[in-house]
Amino acid sequence: MEGQAIIKQALKAFASAASSRMSQVASTVGERLSKQTKHLLKAAKRREVAEAGKDSQLNVYNFRTLMEHPPSDYDYLRFDLNNTCNLHCVYCHNHRSDEVIDLEQFRDFLHTKVGRVANFQVGCGMEPTMDKRLTDFMLLIADSPAKPVCDFILQTNGILLHKHDHGKMQQASLTRLSVSIDAASPEIQRDLRSGTNLQKVLRNLAGFIGRCPETSVDFITTVTRVNIDKVEDLIVLGLDMGVKRFVFREVCYYPDNNIVDHSRMPELVLRDGEFRQMKDRVLGRFDGAAQFIFGDNQFLHTCAKKSLSVSRMEGRALGEIYVGKA
Ligand code: SF4
Repeated sequence: MEGQAIIKQALKAFASAASSRMSQVASTVGERLSKQTKHLLKAAKRREVAEAGKDSQLNVYNFRTLMEHPPSDYDYLRFDLNNTCNLHCVYCHNHRSDEVIDLEQFRDFLHTKVGRVANFQVGCGMEPTMDKRLTDFMLLIADSPAKPVCDFILQTNGILLHKHDHGKMQQASLTRLSVSIDAASPEIQRDLRSGTNLQKVLRNLAGFIGRCPETSVDFITTVTRVNIDKVEDLIVLGLDMGVKRFVFREVCYYPDNNIVDHSRMPELVLRDGEFRQMKDRVLGRFDGAAQFIFGDNQFLHTCAKKSLSVSRMEGRALGEIYVGKA
């Protein structure tokens, strides 16, 4: 009798252990499945939105027009809340003004004219950190149907980055900070981007990385004859800071434009084949260390022509993504 009781007790204990183990296994499997399902759903959603294929700028030039259009899905929405900048880069072709987008009208746009967005970029042809309302706009986007399913990007020259609340940027789920920077040398940086200060940009960037470690940082560089031989130094500097993606864009020159510095441009424009040689050099040395994107003149010219016709700003599509080892 006693033996039977012991066996019964043991069986009970075994059954309860097995059931607890089973529920542990079930919950682990469940978690894995739900992670996979979420991942698959996100990828499907991303594909669906990307297939809508719309890559559009939104700024003071076309805001009213887009408000009159029916709602739309966007693969890329590149938004300028203001129309000014604190720098005068020698190769900049963009006109400026004091016009800004009204916050309430923007809220209206997000809720009535936008379906879904794969990538939302704040700052495209102008400098968003010049506007004190920057993080208010970012929070509006994050709390609207336009919250991007892939990347939420802030594009800046970095000089005034420290003036904005990084906590609100995190709250808005910013995934990428893209900093325009042309050289690791303060002299070259100043020569090409009048009004900047490399030390200040790097200090602001380090502060941002410390406070928003989950946001990836990109360097975006305009390649001219002045900095083309020094791009390796810039990559080394970026890698040391944890930069994950480097975007190189060949400088464009439109002689009919009345903003760009015509006295400097002819000496800055690359000669045939120089951009490709630079690309080969970079990939030869750094392939696998980060992601690289290259936009040569032909690619950028096509984008610029398209976007100039709708929004008067030079095109900002990044370039062709090099799918390397990284
Ligand atoms: S290129 Fe960008 S950072 Fe430079 S002046 Fe033009 S808008 Fe400003």
